Amino acid sequence: MDIAIINTWLLTFQGDNLGIIQDGALGIEDGKISYVGSTDGFNYKEADRIIEGTDHVAMPGLINGHIHTPLTLLRGGAQDLPEIEWMNKGILPLAMHMTLEDLICGSKLGVLEGLRTGTTTFAEYTINAVDILEKVYLPWQVRVVATEMINEVGFGRTHLKPIDLYEFDRSKGENELKRAQELFQKFRSEELVTCMYGPQALDMVSLDLLKTIKEQAIEQNAGIHMHVAQGQRERLQITGRYGKNASTVKVLHKNGLLGPFLLAAHCHDTNEKERELMVKEGVKMVACPSAIGMIDGIVPPVGHYVELGGSAGLGTDQAAGPGSHNLFREMRTASLLTKTLHRDPTVLPAWKALQLATIGGAKILGIASKVGSLEVGKQADVITLNLRHLHLTPTVSRPFRNFIPNLVYSTNGTEVDNVIINGKVILSKGKFVNIDEQAIIEEANIRAKRIFESASEDWKKANSKLVKYTQEGWL
Ligand SMILES: [Zn+2]
Repeated sequence: MDIAIINTWLLTFQGDNLGIIQDGALGIEDGKISYVGSTDGFNYKEADRIIEGTDHVAMPGLINGHIHTPLTLLRGGAQDLPEIEWMNKGILPLAMHMTLEDLICGSKLGVLEGLRTGTTTFAEYTINAVDILEKVYLPWQVRVVATEMINEVGFGRTHLKPIDLYEFDRSKGENELKRAQELFQKFRSEELVTCMYGPQALDMVSLDLLKTIKEQAIEQNAGIHMHVAQGQRERLQITGRYGKNASTVKVLHKNGLLGPFLLAAHCHDTNEKERELMVKEGVKMVACPSAIGMIDGIVPPVGHYVELGGSAGLGTDQAAGPGSHNLFREMRTASLLTKTLHRDPTVLPAWKALQLATIGGAKILGIASKVGSLEVGKQADVITLNLRHLHLTPTVSRPFRNFIPNLVYSTNGTEVDNVIINGKVILSKGKFVNIDEQAIIEEANIRAKRIFESASEDWKKANSKLVKYTQEGWL
């Protein structure tokens, strides 16, 4: 046996609930889970590495269902803005000045932040996905569900009014589809990689190209990961293009583009009927409450989607705006915002939030046979958390285990002290085993300073509200 974790609280996520085991133990051999059960009777003494789990929780690694890690380099660059400005006037003038090396550095920063706080699978949605995988995920041996972003609109839209329709450039879309195909060809047999298709959104890709993408996805037995119904900016484009009664969900449905193959991100500009339809069609949903709260001032309808029986998970989107890739923080945000939205504190309880960030995430990404729960034969993606912190104290187990709500409402993510992916230890006792965290912080600061400085004129010209706040001395 390679690794044994003993004397710990185990959250296995087997069955319909959390699968809690007291005085639990876990064995790992050849990258897979070889034992799940009680420490009593577990023959662990010959294991190469024994992790003592007293006062700890061991659970499946968290699954981030929607993340753009390269944009982590723009953290703090676009927030507190009107929704209509955020993309074209807020983040775009900065993103336009990022080089490929910047994207790679931003990705390293985002992945490290996620790993440090317990994420072991990243549903990466990016341009230059091949490079990001080759330079970040594969060398670090981190599990990724990779998507090359495809759209048919250029960068030059900072001057457009919200009602001006984006001009579609088919050759740009075709080129990006080719890059997506390259991603599949290169990595689909890699153990740590799953590939998906990534049309950006219905306002940014023509129906024609979307249908081609769907055909290819079905041929490759792969899913489509797409932003769906992202608020007013998208709605103006959809009604302008498809008629005043059109909505993203209606247009997708009419064109056979809703189905179990679709992973829909955000969905906050959908109504109850549309969500019922999406659930009926088997569409999966990923909610990013911090991002959508910050960018749109809206709570994603994940509570309703789950209530309807829909399959859902959580993601952190990009750090410019919501600010972090910490899924423990995201669970808390999801639960609190959803309770507030429904004016009902029983909605999205802690245990449900934990499910969304583990087995729920695995299901929406189509990898639940490999990860998402602790079961013998599954890949060993495991994290441990130390409960001996001020903000997690006290820990009691009778008449119930108070650490379950504490994991969601009190944890800040830094209690994660071991991160194991595919049986390999990435973080040990709170320290990265093979990654120089400080070197990446240094590089990220140098690169970000250059990007923000060289984008300065474009950013001023775009004239978002942040320019005004800066002039007033707030920033
Ligand atoms: Zn996104």
